Amino acid sequence: MNGEPDLCIGGAWRHASDGGTRSSINPADGSVAGVVDEATVEDARAAVAAARTAFDDGTWPSTPVIERAALLDRVADLLQRDKESLSLLETADTGKTLAESRIDIDDVTSVFRYYAKLVGVQSDRLVDVGDASVVSRVVREPIGVCVLIAPWNYPLLQMSWKIAPALAAGCTMVAKPSEVTPLSTIAFVHLLEEAGVPPGVVNLVQGSGAVLGDALTGDPAVDFVSFTGGLATGRTISRVAAEHVTKVAVELGGKNPHIVFADAADSAESFDMAVDHVLTGVFLHSGQVCSAGTRLIVEESIADDFVAALAERAAKIRVGNGMDPASETGPLVSEQHRDKVEAYVALGISEGAKLVVGGERPSDPALADGSYYLPTIFDRCDRTMRIVTEETFGPILTVERFTDEAEAIRLGNDTDYGLAAGVRTSDAARGERVVRALRHGTVWLNDFGYYTAAAEWGGFGKSGNGRELGPAGLAEYQEMKHIWHNTAPMPAGWFKG
Ligand code: NAD
Repeated sequence: MNGEPDLCIGGAWRHASDGGTRSSINPADGSVAGVVDEATVEDARAAVAAARTAFDDGTWPSTPVIERAALLDRVADLLQRDKESLSLLETADTGKTLAESRIDIDDVTSVFRYYAKLVGVQSDRLVDVGDASVVSRVVREPIGVCVLIAPWNYPLLQMSWKIAPALAAGCTMVAKPSEVTPLSTIAFVHLLEEAGVPPGVVNLVQGSGAVLGDALTGDPAVDFVSFTGGLATGRTISRVAAEHVTKVAVELGGKNPHIVFADAADSAESFDMAVDHVLTGVFLHSGQVCSAGTRLIVEESIADDFVAALAERAAKIRVGNGMDPASETGPLVSEQHRDKVEAYVALGISEGAKLVVGGERPSDPALADGSYYLPTIFDRCDRTMRIVTEETFGPILTVERFTDEAEAIRLGNDTDYGLAAGVRTSDAARGERVVRALRHGTVWLNDFGYYTAAAEWGGFGKSGNGRELGPAGLAEYQEMKHIWHNTAPMPAGWFKG
């Protein structure tokens, strides 16, 4: 970064083979947050080859589990040591508030701690085949060379959901952060080296996915591609990887419903809490969250009051530079992304949705150089509108109304995606009925947005396939091998001649 080599290939830090660089822009003020090396296709191929060599000839895949787990714990310690510097990089690159970045680094730390523990207690499974002379067991082996591709909204967090289980499983890998937000991942790969990750186990390239993508995901030397990002990219990667029947896990977008029954807001206190959770669920990180609750589905009897209260609080959200402790949310990640969000707002208006609040940039001249956008709410929305069906990935909430439980469930499932959903009700039996009926990977009942490293994360429908976190998030990086060992073999006796 800023003159130091940023590509890590086979344990050596290098500049791009053609000397190319890219400036990473701080969306808070348009300044340059860092200048980083931009890998070429040749560099990407070299990174895959280095990972292949480290897997086939290196020691990491056969390093005892207890040592792999100890290394993951060391990484967690170093993350805490470097928490502040990593948080500052994350805020400079993404624009998110420093408070959010610090939470991200704590979450990254817990992912490493979790997989250190989990891999340490995994054991082979003995299978009783009814013959005392046969030892039959199922063992886990590392899947091999992994390509790990991450998005820009949670750069290090999303990458850690991949690197931690991949290391725990004994894999080697090529990591490619988003070209929009590479800074924290570069610093992190240095930290991995310090923790003792052997050369070639974690290789790093950064640059445009459109340029490097096929070289990474279509290389026959790759055994597994784990991707987090948008639906269109997920489709492309799945197609390219299919050429060599390479396993793919894709974590894609969401258009997540937050269903509010009237009984969840029937006292002043519960009403305020419901408003608070809906507000936080959609406007945190200016809506740039895959699981943001962007579709409010509210019972008709309270809808007018609820939307009015939401609008009042949305207008008070302090949008500003993430480095300013007074800011409650930062800018959008780039000018281009704000253009996309603004286009969705214009579309919503043209589709006939009722703009209740926001729908514009902040007027504060101090924010003029950043890509800020105000929290925006559209009422009177329905499924014919693209702002209701497509992921806007910005601070936009759409409001639909329902009159009974069946309609609430129908609306909640009326999406091509299926990443996350929220339900608010004071009726426990109804709550259980509705959460079981919703076809989404995570469902929060009377809460919104929380997750833990120990529980699986992933989507139904077009939100993707495969799972991250939890035991399934480690299993993605492991092959199961059945070993049948006959200690006293006999002739099969089938063919008599
Ligand atoms: P994106 O799809 O544009 O880019 C994601 C990554 O893919 C980047 O590193 C990019 O360089 C790379 N890429 C682009 N084209 C590629 C190609 N042809 N081959 C290989 N790699 C390629 O997504 P984004 O804009 O960075 O991120 C936002 C999206 O990520 C949203 O849709 C959001 O919902 C999704 N997301 C999902 C989750 C989840 O857990 N499901 C989490 C975070 C973000």
